[in-house]
Amino acid sequence: MELEITKKQNINDKNLDIDFKLNLYNRVPFGLLTLEECEDLFRQRLEAFAILEKFGRFDKNLPELTSTLRNIRSYVYKTNCLVNRVGDTTQQKQDHFSHMLMRMFCIYQSNLWPWFKQNERSLLYYRLRDQALSLSGAKFDAILKTFKFNSERVVGSDLNELMRENILTNKRDQDIFKVKFTDALKFVAKRSVPLKNGYAYLSRHEIISVVCDAFEKYLESELQYARQHFDHELMQSRQLLESMSLVYQDFLDKLDDERRSARRNQADQNSSPFALNLDNLEEVAGTHYPPCMRYLHESLLQDHHLKHQGRLHYGAFLRTAGIELDDAIEFWRKEFTKKIPNDKFERDYKYNIRHLYGKEGHKKALTCFSCDKLISSDPGPTEKHGCPFKHFSDDNLKSLLKKYDIKTDLDLEDVYALKKDKDFRGACSLFYEKIKGQPLNETISNPMQFYYGSRTRQFMNAKCIEEGQTDDIPTHAYPTENGDNL
Ligand code: SF4
Repeated sequence: MELEITKKQNINDKNLDIDFKLNLYNRVPFGLLTLEECEDLFRQRLEAFAILEKFGRFDKNLPELTSTLRNIRSYVYKTNCLVNRVGDTTQQKQDHFSHMLMRMFCIYQSNLWPWFKQNERSLLYYRLRDQALSLSGAKFDAILKTFKFNSERVVGSDLNELMRENILTNKRDQDIFKVKFTDALKFVAKRSVPLKNGYAYLSRHEIISVVCDAFEKYLESELQYARQHFDHELMQSRQLLESMSLVYQDFLDKLDDERRSARRNQADQNSSPFALNLDNLEEVAGTHYPPCMRYLHESLLQDHHLKHQGRLHYGAFLRTAGIELDDAIEFWRKEFTKKIPNDKFERDYKYNIRHLYGKEGHKKALTCFSCDKLISSDPGPTEKHGCPFKHFSDDNLKSLLKKYDIKTDLDLEDVYALKKDKDFRGACSLFYEKIKGQPLNETISNPMQFYYGSRTRQFMNAKCIEEGQTDDIPTHAYPTENGDNL
């Protein structure tokens, strides 16, 4: 079903006493705006989207939905979006302009299309829920008619017949709308709506959802069309697009700052002495990482790239050490986009990071791989993962350990002797002891042991110094995650 968007969407039907304003943005708005006004309206749309993303979820129960609507009303109405105020034509125009500016900005950034469509869908959804849900069935039907939406309200004898045939049971107190079953496939697939003669019978909530789906499809087709046909016009608006890019970047930075400071506050509240975050990662990597992870980290910073296994091993380590998903994406994005465009990062790498955090695919988050797994891996010549004690040549290992602070040749030879005996985990444990001046409680079996051991030791040292006990620093206990992801 196509949602046929009519030229005249607003209803001002005196007989039905409806004064309902709903814009489906099918026309180009006319008027003169300064560059500053455009930037301002574009920024307001971004803010409205951010609010919708914060509050909007569709799988809500009724109390949640009511509070979401309250939030949307109090925040989004402050922007010039989601305007339904009767007679407020200035705001309606601004809403229209801000939508078109956002659409224009997204035309050549197909990675933004899902975000744009989803948020515009949310705006329409909340408009309909907020404004139209309390209307009588006849008035609500009149609104659907203005969309030229292919549906029919079931009333009178038709409704009675459906009740008699038990096709509808307890739905008499609701409005029922009849649509072709192909237009309601998402409900048909779940067998959640009654069917008869190729038609599905939907409640008001369900038809709102179907209308929103159709609107989303309409936006997709508009974007496709604009991309193919408006090249020239868009090129003429280069200055405007550039200004909007700056506003967009500024907005993203602001959001990042807010998220980061919220996380920092949370971390402060939890006050974990070992919390790894983007602010301390660089310092922690150089001091507390085991050689395998430090080498991966340094290779990433140097090459702005890691191959798949390297990303997997280092990504799982970062997750286990406490890096949140958003920060992980930003961390990898920052390095990778020094070499590849952001588009490519979004397309080829972001999914894998989300996958690693259990947000995609089999939905199982990965924990740091064990030493045995790293030792038994088989890195190719250009790959950086694995265990340096196993996979590095003698010379390379020696210069790596010197770079990583082993102090004397004698210490180096002691560690190297264990590596020669193929006791790679023993060599790593001894390396830890040599550089930290204190052994671990047991032989390393997971890189997290090295990491937590080192961080605990630093923490205990600082605590003892603070309390004036400098000579007897206790041996540490370290939490480990032994998940081997196999
Ligand atoms: Fe990493 Fe384990 Fe090898 Fe040490 S023994 S470098 S922690 S894989």
